[in-house]
Amino acid sequence: MKHLVMKILFSLLFSLLTFFTSAQPNAAPNIFIITTDGFRWQEVFNGADSILINNPKYVGDTAAIKQLFWDDSKEVRRTLLFPFVWKTFAKHGAIYGNRQIASKVSVSNPYKFSYAGYNELFTGFADPSIIANKKRWNTNTNVLEFLNNTNEYKNKVAAFTSWHLFNYILNKKKNTFHINSGNNTLVTDSSSANQFLINGTQQYVVDTLTPTRNDMLTFLTAKEYVQKHHPKVVYLGFGETDDYAHSGKYDGYLQSANAFDSYIAQVWYLINSDPFYKNNTHIIITTDHGRGKKSTTWVRHDMFTAGSENSWLMLLGPKVANKGEISNNDEMYTSQLAQTIAYLMNTNFTAPQSIEPILHNAFIEIKK
Ligand SMILES: [Zn+2]
Repeated sequence: MKHLVMKILFSLLFSLLTFFTSAQPNAAPNIFIITTDGFRWQEVFNGADSILINNPKYVGDTAAIKQLFWDDSKEVRRTLLFPFVWKTFAKHGAIYGNRQIASKVSVSNPYKFSYAGYNELFTGFADPSIIANKKRWNTNTNVLEFLNNTNEYKNKVAAFTSWHLFNYILNKKKNTFHINSGNNTLVTDSSSANQFLINGTQQYVVDTLTPTRNDMLTFLTAKEYVQKHHPKVVYLGFGETDDYAHSGKYDGYLQSANAFDSYIAQVWYLINSDPFYKNNTHIIITTDHGRGKKSTTWVRHDMFTAGSENSWLMLLGPKVANKGEISNNDEMYTSQLAQTIAYLMNTNFTAPQSIEPILHNAFIEIKK
């Protein structure tokens, strides 16, 4: 009799456990990591630059672009450029990198170009051997592949980027998680009208001279995949801000940044309106490097151009306090983000390379 009672109790306990684990299949937190390439902290915090927006060398129509993005107040100006960030994100999250109020975010690598910047962001390690934006398979382990190798996140990791070199930076040859970069078409297990339209459009707008996809197509490709498959770890990498800056088109640079703000807004809305993501998803937004700080050097970024190491960072989610714009923080580095991403996903990132520690609690403002 005693044995029978124990048996019943154990089977009850077992079914209760099974019930709770199956009732909460998505208990592990989700994350969206979003970047826009080579975008300066100056515009994030001050909006359009007064010298650049008035220079016909950099702007097609100075009067028209000023109607879109100019105001004498820099608080209004930055809100014209990034309405979602300053009206909504700032209320729910934390924004670092305004050097005018002693908040510093920097890249650790000495070279200050994209491959090196994205490598340190995802691998937690500023690799001195990465000296060029070349088609070289990255040998460092990145935090996306690390997460994809855990039980919680297996086959639930997806990356969508405008720049084709991410196939190499995130090492598509070695890794099995979903990587859609440059002009890769969206291939999933079921077809839809949207997917057909996105792939078809992409086919017709491919510029054979630049292997970088239009940001809007990157966004639509990602959105289609996210709504259909609900990945738990998503990376969205946009590229137009850097492209326009290199071509000296300040109007295009501002307009791409403004479009970037609208993509973040749509991601935030998608998270809030989908029970799969709501209340259990973090957002990290940053860039891979800064650019020259002068009105003559803003077009470029490299180890000899002052300002190229300056970055910025936006965080939002259940573990981040909503402190808005942060002032007076100790300097933070892009190389600390890989371990921070793992931390937000309740795990510890380990890899053969040496990984920089998490952003300290005092900076990330963990909710008690
Ligand atoms: Zn660049």
